[in-house]
Amino acid sequence: MTAIHVIGGGLAGTEAAWQIAEMGFPITLWEMRPATKTPAHHTEELAELVCSNSFGARAVDRATGLLQQELRELGSLVMRVADAQAVPAGGALAVDRAHFSQELTQILAQHPLVTLRREEVREIPPGMVILATGPLTSPALAAQLQHLTGQEYLSFFDAASPIVLGESINREIAFLASRYDKGEAAYLNCPLDRPEYEAFWQALINAEQAPLKDFEASEKKFFEACLPIEEMARRGIDTLRFGPMKPVGLRDPRHPTRRAHAVVQLRPEDRAGNLWNLVGFQTNLRWGEQQRVLRLIPGLEQAEFVRYGVMHRNTFLNAPRILQATLQFRDYPHLLAAGQLTGTEGYATAVAGGWLAGTNLVRLVQGLPLVTLPTTTMMGALFYFISTAEAKHFQPMPANFGILPPLPTTMKQKSARYQAYSQRSLADLAPWRAQQLTRPVPHH
Ligand code: FAD
Repeated sequence: MTAIHVIGGGLAGTEAAWQIAEMGFPITLWEMRPATKTPAHHTEELAELVCSNSFGARAVDRATGLLQQELRELGSLVMRVADAQAVPAGGALAVDRAHFSQELTQILAQHPLVTLRREEVREIPPGMVILATGPLTSPALAAQLQHLTGQEYLSFFDAASPIVLGESINREIAFLASRYDKGEAAYLNCPLDRPEYEAFWQALINAEQAPLKDFEASEKKFFEACLPIEEMARRGIDTLRFGPMKPVGLRDPRHPTRRAHAVVQLRPEDRAGNLWNLVGFQTNLRWGEQQRVLRLIPGLEQAEFVRYGVMHRNTFLNAPRILQATLQFRDYPHLLAAGQLTGTEGYATAVAGGWLAGTNLVRLVQGLPLVTLPTTTMMGALFYFISTAEAKHFQPMPANFGILPPLPTTMKQKSARYQAYSQRSLADLAPWRAQQLTRPVPHH
């Protein structure tokens, strides 16, 4: 029988390995800790939570809550253990991190079909393979992956600008135009007059920054190629006006004689125009500060952030070029990827990738066609998004409602809309599960 390997015993790898073994296939799970460490993990357990112990909001009408529920309905092991190890955390699903990882390690180590090998994989082994080595993939394996995909399609650093929901942008102020009217009007532009700009600049230079992790601070070279906006602002009051906020060539067609002192441009992240990225606004500000300061920009007063800007070390593939929505490599059918490496973000999202890659790897071994989930589900939408996004500007994406297809009817009230998204997702997931999954899903 073809050898099956899952590389990386994090959240994604643990879920993938268990799914494969539960479907009756022997699998080798490779985890390099404790012999080889990452700069962020502290233990030798599988599925260690590297930072917060929270999987995000629990309510099913929230994006992370919906994703958690979809995973429960698909029989995810990691979600089952997260629920069992939950600690009180208001509306969030937070877990006792030590017990959570210990229980998962024990389950995998005792599974008769799982061989747990504590070794760094430096070269992708022959056979059917899932790569789930996460944001801190070891350098040797990353080098091989880069060789496989082409250097430009594996990133080591994530300098991401914030992304806001299109419907939360004030279109009375923001206008659609491209600089010097070149090509079609592709950007939303938020103009600032001088007092607005100066107030924004003041707020920006005084805002609180998130501390870099020790290993990131010692690798400051990563950050120099791509300055955060707050750093640019500190270099002088007009630096931003000659950089990402330059106003030249941008006129509001509704007010052709008005000249802005500065302009913030937003570029669409998806074809439907649900998500917009603040161009050149990579930032290391604390998330609460990003919301406070960026809402000073006219047109973004009510902006809803689906992803905040980050500047951190992160190994991820250019998924739109490299992966299909099934998580299979486009050029290497025996190879799949899962977790943060695929350009998704968040704990539950990593688990979702592990579930899909594990499920599809077994189908591959069985000679069955690989599956994708309905795009009306959070899981389906996430993997559709990463495999079809614009490759040139690809940034990792967390679970959010902006990536779901619009509802058949317009709903003004946000809470009603989110509930409708959630109901539609779970209603579509049930028949999909019944039709596509050949094995029973355990009920907990
Ligand atoms: P991981 O959980 O990192 O698992 C990858 C595993 O692969 C690791 O165990 C690693 O040791 C192993 N590995 C790597 N290379 C090899 C190799 N060559 N051979 C064998 N094994 C290998 N997300 C959140 O949702 N909330 C947070 O608070 C949060 N904080 C973070 C803080 C830091 C410092 C970092 C780096 C990331 C953070 N993330 C956070 C993102 C987080 O890493 C992911 O959400 C999640 O852990 C990704 O799961 P994964 O399975 O893809 O990767």
